[in-house]
Amino acid sequence: LDFLAQTDPTLAAMIQGELQRQREHLELIASENFTSAAVLAAQGSVLTNKYAEGLPKKRYYGGCEWVDQAEQLAIDRVKELFGAAHANVQPHSGAQANFAVFLTLLKPGDKIMGMDLSHGGHLTHGSPVNVSGKWFEVCHYGVSAETERLDYDAILELAKKEKPKLLICGFSAYPRIIEFDKFRAIADEVGAYLMADIAHIAGLVASGHHPNPLPYCDVVTTTTHKTLRGPRGGLIMTNDPELGKKFDKSVFPGTQGGPLEQVIAAKAVAFGEALKPEFKVYSGEVIANAQSLANQLTQRGFKLVSGGTDNHLMLVDLRCIDMTGKEADKLVSEINITANKNTVPFDPESPFVTSGLRLGSPAMTTRGLGVDDFAEIGNIIADCLLNRNDEGVKQDCLNRVKALCDRFPLYPHLNIPVPV
Ligand code: PLP
Repeated sequence: LDFLAQTDPTLAAMIQGELQRQREHLELIASENFTSAAVLAAQGSVLTNKYAEGLPKKRYYGGCEWVDQAEQLAIDRVKELFGAAHANVQPHSGAQANFAVFLTLLKPGDKIMGMDLSHGGHLTHGSPVNVSGKWFEVCHYGVSAETERLDYDAILELAKKEKPKLLICGFSAYPRIIEFDKFRAIADEVGAYLMADIAHIAGLVASGHHPNPLPYCDVVTTTTHKTLRGPRGGLIMTNDPELGKKFDKSVFPGTQGGPLEQVIAAKAVAFGEALKPEFKVYSGEVIANAQSLANQLTQRGFKLVSGGTDNHLMLVDLRCIDMTGKEADKLVSEINITANKNTVPFDPESPFVTSGLRLGSPAMTTRGLGVDDFAEIGNIIADCLLNRNDEGVKQDCLNRVKALCDRFPLYPHLNIPVPV
C-alpha cells in the first residue's frame, strides 16, 4: 500500500478515505462484514494475473499448476464446511451464481416461485427489473400479515396453484429461521426443483447456528462476503453430482469467462477460517449481538418486523414513530451509523422511501463489540430517531459512536500514507 501511495497518490487517497470511513462509522448494513487481513492479502496477490478458464486440472490455458491447487483447496474446504458433495467456487457474485443455476434448470418462459422483494426476497428471485423476472414467469409468496413470518401452508397452496418449475427460498431481509425441510415437502408435492439462496445466513449455516439446506435442496447458492466473512463473491453447491457437472458448465462457459483466481484464493482463506472453532464462537456472538440490539430497540418502543430476530438482522418498522426508512437512514448516517432503508411486509411506501430500517450485527461483531455495546447502539439509534430535531442529542450520539469506534480499532496494521 505504501507502493500504491507513491505510484498513484490520487487513488491511494481514495482507498485511505474509505479505510477512514470504515474506521469512523458503526457499520450496521446486514450484508456487510470486515474480512481478515489474510483474505485481503490473498485477494491483492499475483493470482490476479492468471487466466484459468475451465476447472482445476481441466484448463484451457497453460501455467495453471498453482491456481489449480488454490482453487481445489477452496473447493475442498467449502465442501467440508457445508457438507456438500459438489461445489463451484467461480461465480463472481451471488447474482452470477443464481443466474448459472437458472441457465441449468430452466428455459425462458418456465415458472419460478420466490419471496416477494418487498417481503424480504432478492432481486434475482424474479424481480421484473432482473433477468429472472424478464425471462421467466414469476409468482411470489410473502410472509403472513399476522405473524410477519413464513406461512408454509399458504406457500404450499400457492405452489399447488402455480406449479412452478423452481421453488426458491433464502432471503435478504428475513429475520427468522428458514425450515428447509418444509420447503422440500412443498417442492416434492408439486414436482419442483428446490433452490436455497443462503447469501445472508451462510456463516450461520456453516457454524451450525442455522439449519443446513444441503440435505433438502437440489442446489444451494450463496455469496461469500456477508456472514461468511470472505471476499466479495458467489458459490454454488449441490449433493447431486450430475447436477453439479451441469452447474459447472453453466458458470463456464455458460455465463462467465476466466475465473477470478485471486478472489477464489481469498475464498479458500475465508473457508479455512470458517472451519476453525473461533468462527463458531463468532457466529454465536453475531446472533447474541443482534438480539441485544433488537431487545434494546423494543424496550425503547420500536416495533420490529415479526417481533425480533433469530439471526444476524432485524427490520425496524418505523411507522410506529411516523417516520420513513428514507428519513431514518439519513438521520443515522448523520451520526456516523451506516444502515439501509428497507421495505417492510405490506409496505405502503415505495421502495425508494420505505417504512423500514434494516440493521445487522456481523460487521461490528467482527470488530469485537459485545452484547452491552449493541445495547448501547440500540440506545444511540433510539435517541437519534426519537429526537430528530435536537442538535444537542445529535452531537451526543456522534460522541458515543466515536467512543465505540475508538474502543474497537479496525485494521490497525493498515496505513496508507498519502503524500500531502
Ligand atoms: N441473494 C441474496 C439473498 C442476497 O441478499 C444477495 C445480495 O444482497 C444476492 C443474492 C446477490 O449477491 P451479489 O450482490 O454478490 O450479486
